[in-house]
Amino acid sequence: MNPRPYVGRFAPSPTGPLHFGSLIAAVASYLDARCHHGQWLIRMEDLDKPREVPGAADDILRTLEAYGFEWDGPVLYQSQRDEAYQATLDTLIEKDLVYPCNCSRREVADIAHAGLEGPVYPGLCRHGLSRERKTRAWRFKTDVAHLVFKDEIQGMFDHRIQRDIGDFVLKRADGLFAYQLAVVVDDAEQGITHVVRGADLLNSTSRQILLQFSLKLATPSYAHVPLAGTADGDKLSKQTHAEPITADNAVEMLWQAMQFLGMAPPKYLRKESLPDLWTWGLNHWELDKVPKQQMIELQ
Ligand SMILES: [Zn+2]
Repeated sequence: MNPRPYVGRFAPSPTGPLHFGSLIAAVASYLDARCHHGQWLIRMEDLDKPREVPGAADDILRTLEAYGFEWDGPVLYQSQRDEAYQATLDTLIEKDLVYPCNCSRREVADIAHAGLEGPVYPGLCRHGLSRERKTRAWRFKTDVAHLVFKDEIQGMFDHRIQRDIGDFVLKRADGLFAYQLAVVVDDAEQGITHVVRGADLLNSTSRQILLQFSLKLATPSYAHVPLAGTADGDKLSKQTHAEPITADNAVEMLWQAMQFLGMAPPKYLRKESLPDLWTWGLNHWELDKVPKQQMIELQ
C-alpha cells in the first residue's frame, strides 16, 4: 500500500465574514493537513451568486492570512467552474444516471413525504417529463437503499439515502449547479484525500460518496468536527449573527478554537504570539481528541 499524499482543504462560502464557527473548521483542517505533512488548499464556494456578499471572499482570505494560515496553490473559485460541472453532468447523462425534471416546488410538496432535508422527490419525471414546461432541473437517480460510511471523528453512519434524501438535484431549473455536484467535481480536481469540515455537512456525505462511485472517483476520508452552537441549539452562523472574527484578537480566537477542538492549550499561550500558538498546535493536534459530538454549545 502506498497511500496518496495528503491533500486537505478549507472551503468557505463568501456569504459574510469569517466567524468563530468557520474558524474551527479552518483550524481543524489546517492542523490535520500540516501534521500529515500535507497540502492545504482553499476553495471559495461561491456558486450561489444571489447569496454572495460582495467583498466577502477577499475579506475571508485576508482574515485567514492575518491568523497565520498559509495555503498551497491558487484559490479555486466555484463561480469559475461551470464548464467542469457541466461536463460532469453530461457524463452522468450519458450513463443514464440523471434525468430532467420540470416539476414545480408546489407539485412536489403536495405529494412528497418528508425527508432529511425537506420533501423527498417522488420520482414523477423519472420515466420522462410529464408536462409542458421549458425550464428543467437535473436529478440524480438514487437507486441505493443504504449507504454506509465511516467518519473519522463521528463514527459509522448508515444513511437510508433513497428513503430520506431521494433523487436529489444536481443542476437547478435556474441553471445553478448544486453544491453536491460541485463539491465532488472540485474535490476530485484538487486531488483532495482528506475532508475535515463541520458536522452540518454529515448528511451530505453519503450523496457525495454516491456521486464519486458513479463517476469512478476516489472517495476521500471524511472527518466532521462539531459545530459551535448557540444557547438556543442553533448552529453558529451568519444567520444567527455570529460575530465576525478580527485580526486584533487572533491569538485569543485561535486559542479558543483549539480549546473547542479538545486540544486543551495551556493558558499562558493566550498571551503569547500567533507563531508560538501555531507551533504548539502543530505539536499537539490529535484527531482522536476532537469531541465526538455534532454540536457543542458555546459558553
Ligand atoms: Zn419532476
